[in-house]
Amino acid sequence: MIAYENLLELNKPFTARFKQQFDEFLASGWYILGNSVKKFEQEYAAWNNSTYCIGVANGLDALTLALKAYNFEPGSEVIVPSNTYIATILAILNNNLTPVLVEPDIRTYNIDPKLIEQAITPRTRAIMAVHLYGKCCAMEAILTIKNKHNLVLVEDCAQAHGATLNGQKTGTFGEFGAFSFYPTKNLGALGDAGAVNTNDERLAGIIMQLRNYGSDKKYYNERIGTNSRLDELQAAFLSVKLEALDDINNHKRKLANLYLQHLKSDFILPVVEDGYEDVYHIFNVRHERRDDLKAYLLEKCIGTEIHYPVPPHEQKAMQEVLKGQNFPIAKEIHQTTLSLPCSYWHTEEQIEQVVEAMNGF
Ligand SMILES: *Cc1c(COP(=O)(O)O)cnc(C)c1O
Repeated sequence: MIAYENLLELNKPFTARFKQQFDEFLASGWYILGNSVKKFEQEYAAWNNSTYCIGVANGLDALTLALKAYNFEPGSEVIVPSNTYIATILAILNNNLTPVLVEPDIRTYNIDPKLIEQAITPRTRAIMAVHLYGKCCAMEAILTIKNKHNLVLVEDCAQAHGATLNGQKTGTFGEFGAFSFYPTKNLGALGDAGAVNTNDERLAGIIMQLRNYGSDKKYYNERIGTNSRLDELQAAFLSVKLEALDDINNHKRKLANLYLQHLKSDFILPVVEDGYEDVYHIFNVRHERRDDLKAYLLEKCIGTEIHYPVPPHEQKAMQEVLKGQNFPIAKEIHQTTLSLPCSYWHTEEQIEQVVEAMNGF
């Protein structure tokens, strides 16, 4: 069996270092917001060419706190792609703001800048750019719109650690880059974890307070905050994994290139564009008979996933919020997309086996 993902295999190379980190953590006697969080924040800011990194509890909180920093009037509109993972939309709803869904470009699966402009109203305050599957959005066009309409830009980088456009890393284009370190992400912890990156000292200070009960001085609370601290132990594990992140991204890119070179033309492959360096958090193909393809691969002992089977506007939870809205491009992607094995622990031989099976479909 070639599993789609296997977290035990993924983390095997780091086991000895993890155990050492745990021993040091236990011995330190300091378990919340200690030196490991500080160290990881500095390292991760540097790795991204960001000035500040603030560790938080998970990716959803990173997105939620980024918007919360602005205290937008309730009902203000935030633009978000119609094919994103539900978390991006929940971050908007968590702040009593109104999500305005905009369709992606069917070629890149990322939000279509041409359609953003049409969705802007006098109530629009922010754009959430989601770098889906590990590909940076069309940031030049998005920044032009942001500046023209004076909007805040929050980047959802949960799938795009290290992805670049013209050498610039995701999370550095807008006011905030929000990251998830959920175990399956390109940089994954051994539990929940996330971070907010920014180049703005004032905004960094606000997030620092918000994640810790609105306080940066013990028992003095300046804002209505929350408890969303990055766990000290997860931070220690993340520092170990961060040293390998370039290696992880390069490996996934190498596997993706095998697919790109050898899969037959029946499958719609991810686009490769000049200036974009993708990190293939997910390597997806599209095919009209996606469900048949998935079943066929499973028969050949190859695991796959669907990201995602149901678009946000068709989720039961969104029935009221997005009532009567239709997003045919998102729907088309959700009906036809299939994610192939492409993890750090997969070998080139395994990917060649997947290619052979795929080409026999
Ligand atoms: C994983 C993910 C999130 C949420 O991250 P959590 O750490 O699970 O809260 C948000 N947005 C996108 C695009 C994701 O893939």
